[in-house]
Amino acid sequence: MILRILRKASQSQNKESLFPFLSAISRSFSSQSTPPSFGIAFDIDGVVLRSEAPIGGSPHALRRLYEDSGALKIPYIFLTNGGGFRESVRALELSELLGLNISPSQVVQGHSPFKQLVGRFENELVIAVGKGEPATVMSEYGFKNVLSIDDYALCFDNIDPLAPYKKWTTKQVSYQSSNTKATDLRENIRSQRVQAVFIVSDSVDWSRDIQVLCDILRTGGLPGREVGHQPPLYFAHDDLAYQAAFPSERFGMGAFRIALEAVFNRIHPLALKYTTYGKPNPSVFKNAETLLEQLVSSMHRNAHVADHINTGTHHLKRLYMIGDNPSVDICGARKAGHPWFSILTRTGVFKGKENHPKFPADLVVDTVEEAVDYILRKECAS
Ligand SMILES: [Mg+2]
Repeated sequence: MILRILRKASQSQNKESLFPFLSAISRSFSSQSTPPSFGIAFDIDGVVLRSEAPIGGSPHALRRLYEDSGALKIPYIFLTNGGGFRESVRALELSELLGLNISPSQVVQGHSPFKQLVGRFENELVIAVGKGEPATVMSEYGFKNVLSIDDYALCFDNIDPLAPYKKWTTKQVSYQSSNTKATDLRENIRSQRVQAVFIVSDSVDWSRDIQVLCDILRTGGLPGREVGHQPPLYFAHDDLAYQAAFPSERFGMGAFRIALEAVFNRIHPLALKYTTYGKPNPSVFKNAETLLEQLVSSMHRNAHVADHINTGTHHLKRLYMIGDNPSVDICGARKAGHPWFSILTRTGVFKGKENHPKFPADLVVDTVEEAVDYILRKECAS
């Protein structure tokens, strides 16, 4: 199903800016005169979905946030550390899996803040790492000279000594052939200094990626050359583990970061420098607050939408974060403070009977459906 959705999404090649999305949402929003005074941010993995399967009554819970007509009644977004695909593709996938009409502007992924770095690296050679379409994600954000680590590694003969033992196949790129044009292209890439590395989503091939990243990072961006100044390294998030289809948690990007850092620090005189984004960084919650405010503004047909966005007019008195990971979702909402209220579900990473001892949530429930029920009862009564 995912493949079918992704094909459909790549055909659509969404290039619209945020504003047309908001206009589209505005058309489908309820025309209510009083805007809601609260908004909701949902984590995805372990709350709404487990792999591709809806969990915790999520389709029904989310449907309650819409009018019977299908117009959005309550502003909500998905706030996930996951990623690897463009926000437009993820929105389409979620729409199909949950049976709802979800806009790309309602999807915030771990790598979404990378677009803020376009000004610094727009025309520089940067490498994008991870599952899915990391280079496509970065191109859509505006990076003009980006290569996936798959394509970059193919420019160097024998950079991965284990490659002959790897049974899977990767997409062939045009410059992999032996004609003169392809050879020139590979030589051109090899002679360019990599100016930054972005870990967009989970690394698929840890052994190759740790090897190639150490080559890039210890040589100032020129693998095979002498030791140089480490280029900047950015991680979309730092989650140690996440809940997928397997009963116990799986290693996340944070585990990959630890492995890369441990190896790099053994072979390089200076410790690895890096920046991590994603929850629990308070900036993620600040950005979510702004997006939810924008959604409310777009719900107000009679209001001056642009003015609200530009002046940052605040309507929302309470923001709910529903998550399954205490050290990510709950810790982040607690650090963000007012007006965030944290709700911890038991459908993912957290499976305890009582509240989490280190990062206690404001409320613990079994499922996302229970969380939405609580919010609607509380807000409608107040
Ligand atoms: Mg989660």
